[in-house]
Amino acid sequence: MEIIIHRGAKQIGGSCIEICSDQTRLIFDIGEELPKTNNPEKAKLKLLVDDLFVYSKITDRKINGIFISHNHGDHIGLFETVKEEIPIYIGKTSLEIQNTIFDFISKDKKIVPERVLENEIPIKINDFIVTPFLIDHSAFDSYAFLIESDGKKVIYTGDFRRHGAKGVLTEKFAKHPRTQNPDVLLIEGTNIFKDEFVADKEDIIGMKAEAFMRKIQGNIFVLQSSANIDRIEQIYRACKKVNRYLIIDIFTAHILSNLPNGQYSELKIFYPLWLTRKMHDTPEGTKKMNRFSRRKISKKELKSRRDLCILVRENMLSDIEHRIDYSDAGLIYSKWEGYKKDPKTKYFLEFFDAPKLETISLHTSGHADIQTIKDFVRDLNPVKIIPVHTETPEKFQEIFGDLVSLIDDKIKIVV
Ligand SMILES: [Zn+2]
Ligand SMILES: [Zn+2]
Repeated sequence: MEIIIHRGAKQIGGSCIEICSDQTRLIFDIGEELPKTNNPEKAKLKLLVDDLFVYSKITDRKINGIFISHNHGDHIGLFETVKEEIPIYIGKTSLEIQNTIFDFISKDKKIVPERVLENEIPIKINDFIVTPFLIDHSAFDSYAFLIESDGKKVIYTGDFRRHGAKGVLTEKFAKHPRTQNPDVLLIEGTNIFKDEFVADKEDIIGMKAEAFMRKIQGNIFVLQSSANIDRIEQIYRACKKVNRYLIIDIFTAHILSNLPNGQYSELKIFYPLWLTRKMHDTPEGTKKMNRFSRRKISKKELKSRRDLCILVRENMLSDIEHRIDYSDAGLIYSKWEGYKKDPKTKYFLEFFDAPKLETISLHTSGHADIQTIKDFVRDLNPVKIIPVHTETPEKFQEIFGDLVSLIDDKIKIVV
């Protein structure tokens, strides 16, 4: 078995790893580089992998499958440019959420998987067996992979943490009889450089949100990703406790409609003006906008109520200004701090700052803190560790010593 990290050995985001043998080539993640927060216009580097992308050279070594750990852009963002004929494997809900996002950003190409990933159900491809394991991360339906071939065992963690709502999955994975003593552990280390950092649990975020909601007289706005389902759940629970009505926009309603248990299907919906105009440009868009029309909150209610909690994005500023009561309102900023440098976000925050509306930042990382990484490695007991998805791979060496191999992108590793 061989491993080639095409990208991600020394950077966060843009992950793409190949694991192959003489007869089989498998790809794990097809990530786009993350935007540079202080320079969002900066071009993202293309990734060249023979036979994977429509623009790459053809050496005529067929790729037998692309496995996607989760639907964050830094793991799936190059989907549009991969060759049509390569089979794709992705979790069912992850797939549905991503195709919903494509619908709303008017991408014609949709993901049609060869097969959807199911927790602990192995997939055999030639001389490989790939077993996905559900793992805790800020993207819903995220997987780590156990990859076996020719008597060897490799683990690729994807992105993971233990302090989210599904932390027990991470523990279960690390202690599972099948995952023990891998020959190679490809492990993400986004947060490994932060020595003293202990990540807040998701439910702490919920408790702090609840306290903030009690204090604020007017409406609450929550600036967060519509795809961060764990966070929406915390906000939802906080709203219930303080008797606020959680309002989502039509895009978020579509995202949530993909969840397996039909939760959140009673939430009222508002229609942001720019999005409504854009979607009504096409008959399919109109159909999407009408799908939940019976749940629409009336203009009058939106304008007059002061007990709402509304999930928003930066491009809804004009709706907030003209269609919703924002006197005495409060803002919960619930994203990574780094995004505050993004000009759109900065502008949004300044709007709330001008009339001195109260703002609170409540967020926790989607990635493991250092103690979680230590416990995880101890439980798995790997023969060799290869860090990925980190800007400080040398930190792994400081902690785990000789177990760690620091490998550059594009270098072939024989297992
Ligand atoms: Zn990532
Ligand atoms: Zn991620």
